[in-house]
Amino acid sequence: MNSREQDDQRKGALKQQLVNTLDYEQLMNCMRCGFCQPACPTFHQTGLEAASPRGRIALMKAVADGLMEPDEAFKQQMDLCLGCRACEPVCPSDVKYGQLLEQTKDALFEHAEPAGAIPLRGLHKFAKPIFKRHRRLRLMSTILHAYQRSGLQRLANKGNLLRWLPAHMQTMERIMPHADSRGVVKRVGGHRFEAKGERIGTVGLFRGCIMDVLFTETNVNTVRLLTESGYDVVIPKEQSCCGALFSHSGDRDTAREFAKQNVKVFGDAKVDYIASNAGGCGAMLVEYDHLLADEAEWVGPAREFAVQVKDISELLLRSQRWNQLPEAAVQSKTAAQPETTRDDTVTVTYQDSCHLRNVMRAGEGPRQLLRLIPDTNFVELEGGEVCCGSAGIYNLVQPQMANDIVDSRMEAVRDTKASIILTSNPGCLLQMKVGVEREKANDRIQVMHVVDYFAEKILK
Ligand code: SF4
Ligand code: SF4
Repeated sequence: MNSREQDDQRKGALKQQLVNTLDYEQLMNCMRCGFCQPACPTFHQTGLEAASPRGRIALMKAVADGLMEPDEAFKQQMDLCLGCRACEPVCPSDVKYGQLLEQTKDALFEHAEPAGAIPLRGLHKFAKPIFKRHRRLRLMSTILHAYQRSGLQRLANKGNLLRWLPAHMQTMERIMPHADSRGVVKRVGGHRFEAKGERIGTVGLFRGCIMDVLFTETNVNTVRLLTESGYDVVIPKEQSCCGALFSHSGDRDTAREFAKQNVKVFGDAKVDYIASNAGGCGAMLVEYDHLLADEAEWVGPAREFAVQVKDISELLLRSQRWNQLPEAAVQSKTAAQPETTRDDTVTVTYQDSCHLRNVMRAGEGPRQLLRLIPDTNFVELEGGEVCCGSAGIYNLVQPQMANDIVDSRMEAVRDTKASIILTSNPGCLLQMKVGVEREKANDRIQVMHVVDYFAEKILK
């Protein structure tokens, strides 16, 4: 078979998979009202119908109806979608856009053009064992740690040795947090911790992969906040990555493998809740029942697992200790000067994690807590619910659109006059740091995870 025939065969198989797997009922549920358009960042940036949720659904339906080929233009619009799912909560027909996108991405991954498929599959093959076994991830972070701390990074930046990298990769390299190969377990010195004061329940900490080596301090603070709030905390040893990075690029088999491992180890740990401090991971975890829906033996345990998953803000809000904070704040305010003249009041704003808001539907939790924190002037970010452009590895594969989006987020940040931008997801945190760097505002604006901010303000 010559290469042209092979290509025709691949395109035919792609089309057939889309026809077979796209959920036609969901496609029909879209009544083309357009209520989702204003919520969509790619529509907002381009003004193109094809780059909107309604437009993408129409493209999927045209392929499913055999009216259109899943050609390069089709693929481009699917790739441009952030998967932020801001189109779901605003849809009056409850169209499950995220599921339609997954079905499309699965097919595109399965039948990718050889030029794109070989590097993508190679990358997945390389990354899978690293993300599956935490030890290996720690080894990688040791290498990064050595690069960052040995003076090599300083040398590389000073000598402009990384100029061969694309501009967005150079920015990413500069804003990357310091790696800590010890991870949370070594940092806190164990796998099990007792609640302080009255006990509310037992929480299993989902420590994440990137989270545990680049944001170790946030994981440490999560354990501290949970125990201080009345939870026993367990950190199951054999947990793996949530699988989101694989699932979002179409490799659902690897994501399923990771999901089964997590369902098993957290089930064995016999916890009441599973705490997530990363919106992207949490959203993946709460949909494990959907991911494993076709596996009779796993769907029940996956459902139990999914209902136990909570964002840390939801767990903290259940604690009596946080309900007592307003009293503490009032006492501290009346004991000092009026708020406007107090030097220790800091103005903060909050950039949503799309997946925390649109999938876990827990976007209000961090805001509620921020309103309780003493010495904090919390100013809402206009359009804070709009994706920042991070979206997993979107900012690496679609840098132009990601930059356009984060620049528009920074315009809104400017209006708040905040000196700290808070987020609930490591990817959003890095992307907002990119925004601050592009704005040349490093000396004025800090970006923090909400957990670290809470810990700084509450755990003296
Ligand atoms: S809001 Fe829902 S029903 Fe309306 S166009 Fe968007 S996806 Fe379709
Ligand atoms: S997931 Fe986000 S980017 Fe994609 S269509 Fe929905 S709102 Fe637009």
